[in-house]
Amino acid sequence: MFHKGAFRLAGLYLLVMMAVSLFFSVIIYRLSVQEIDQGLRGPDQTSIINRLPTVESRGQLHDAFELHYQRAKSRIMDSLIITNLVILAGGGALCYYLARRTLMPIEEAREAQNRFTADASHELRTPITAIRTVNEVTLMNPRLTLKQAKIQLRSNVEELEKLTRLTDGLLTLANFENTEITFHNLSVDSLVRKAANRLASKAAARRITIEHSVPKGLKVAGDETSLVEALVILLDNAVKYSLKNGKITISVSRRQKQLKIDVTDRGIGIKPEEIGHIFERFYRADSARSKQQIDGYGLGLAIAKNIAKLHRGYISVKSKAGQGSTFSLVLPLAPA
Ligand code: ADP
Repeated sequence: MFHKGAFRLAGLYLLVMMAVSLFFSVIIYRLSVQEIDQGLRGPDQTSIINRLPTVESRGQLHDAFELHYQRAKSRIMDSLIITNLVILAGGGALCYYLARRTLMPIEEAREAQNRFTADASHELRTPITAIRTVNEVTLMNPRLTLKQAKIQLRSNVEELEKLTRLTDGLLTLANFENTEITFHNLSVDSLVRKAANRLASKAAARRITIEHSVPKGLKVAGDETSLVEALVILLDNAVKYSLKNGKITISVSRRQKQLKIDVTDRGIGIKPEEIGHIFERFYRADSARSKQQIDGYGLGLAIAKNIAKLHRGYISVKSKAGQGSTFSLVLPLAPA
């Protein structure tokens, strides 16, 4: 598919290249022939010929001029044909190379899209299959009691809640991939407070404290809802992957025209070989997967990364397995 497309595009490029080359070749040929014609058959030559004493010598000189004229014409024609053949061969290779380069990002995007669709279908299918199987087994039980049916329904609702979280995550990811944001000047202190408030009860349930100290007056340009969302994702992870009774700190620092919001936890940390993957969609580190109580679909950091990108910023991470992690959201400062 990719090679076929590359060949077609290369053919098109080559066609345009050859059309331009042939066009200029015709012009060059015509102008050159015109010049030679004037040089060998013009009035000067006629007067030179006419000055000769005999008809025979005149005829000989005329033939000599004519011979030169014909030879020069065919030499120009040969050179132009060779030039065009070289352009055809060299240009063909060049066009194929350029066509591949043009199509490569499209191909990569298509592959990423296919991978994403396959991953999303897999994640959706697993809980759906589980719900269906358990419901079928329950329905086959002829002595099903009301109590058992209620237990079953409760478990169904839990699974459906997970599915809702997954579809919400997918929608959020899609939203932040193809969108434009309107920039407003926002107080960093207020953004951090709003995010911390959203996580307060979840953190309290695990006896985790969230500390934040933000210098007043710092402003960032961006969209409030999405920036709070990005901070919530980082804080949610910090809570999820912290040990009970842990402490999370949010600190903000300024360097030149950038602002850095650090979310630091002293939780399970990330192994060096996994750090490069955690921003990929659906990626979950082994430690997160194996511990069944830590739920998630591996979409959070992909969403946060997209939000940072929309704000012309980025997210970086420093982590040590078993010691904790610091995720830094770096954003451009609002213009004064
Ligand atoms: P989720 O948390 O839903 O699995 P994310 O995209 O937010 O998905 O994170 C991807 C993976 O990165 C997680 O599964 C986890 O392995 C790792 N991770 C993210 N944040 C932290 C953290 N603060 N501490 C340890 N591991 C983390």
